[in-house]
Amino acid sequence: MTQDIQDKVVVITGASSGLGEATARLLSEQGAKVVLGARRIDRLTTLAAELGLPDGSVLQTDVTDAAQVKALVDKAVALHGRIDVILNNAGLMPQSLFEKLMVGDWDRMVDVNIKGVLYGIAAALPYMTAQKSGQIINVSSVAGHKVGPGSGVYAATKHAVRALSEGLRQEMTGHNVRVTIISPGAVLTELADSITDPAVAARVHALYEEVGIPANSFARCVAFAMSQPEEVDINEILFRPTRQAY
Ligand code: NDP
Repeated sequence: MTQDIQDKVVVITGASSGLGEATARLLSEQGAKVVLGARRIDRLTTLAAELGLPDGSVLQTDVTDAAQVKALVDKAVALHGRIDVILNNAGLMPQSLFEKLMVGDWDRMVDVNIKGVLYGIAAALPYMTAQKSGQIINVSSVAGHKVGPGSGVYAATKHAVRALSEGLRQEMTGHNVRVTIISPGAVLTELADSITDPAVAARVHALYEEVGIPANSFARCVAFAMSQPEEVDINEILFRPTRQAY
């Protein structure tokens, strides 16, 4: 039997735009109790009002701060009594060639894309192991499988997400905690806005405009993974636009 999305308590990081926002919309429409984090609290507040979420369903959260991520998860449990799913989605993609030495961008990618995911795991895991149920969904990328010029650091962070997720999955067998990776290709979001190198930004914007698919495609993957019977753990969903060659 598939599981209902209805009434599942779902924490989403990076819910202020793109994939996180689209997932908040879809799951909320399907009756899930979503609790949303990101730095742009104005966007979260507007979204919560639009979706009719109960008070306390959003929290300004910077995922580079473990205490803030813990506060987000604790808030969900305080509000709804449990946490069923955490979607560790917050991320950025300031791609550049290594020779440009954009060390600040390298730091931000490591801090958000890897450490942010780890902090989400640290916040949710104690509740899930105590409940003996839960699902941790981590967002990797096609770049978690493939590396190209300019994408070395971003791809490294997304490979890391896949590696840590697989290690966690193995440790969680027997705890009834499922671990799922979702690896999108080009999806139309604000992600390319995080690119600080103007030449790379122009190229990636053009590519996304040409082949990028709607963010709802990702949200449906999350819903699919969540709705599997308890004994089925969807380990990874890799999807791309039909027109994406790489
Ligand atoms: P967006 O730029 O639209 O969304 C990124 C989200 O991450 C925003 O909500 C942003 O919120 C949040 N975020 C960034 N930094 C932080 C931070 N320090 N603390 C908390 N939240 C943060 O891009 P996407 O929706 O596309 O990106 C979501 C995830 O999907 C990322 O991990 C990305 O790598 C991955 N991905 C996206 C693909 C695509 O083609 N779009 C393809 C493959 C993977 P705020 O700024 O308000 O904090």
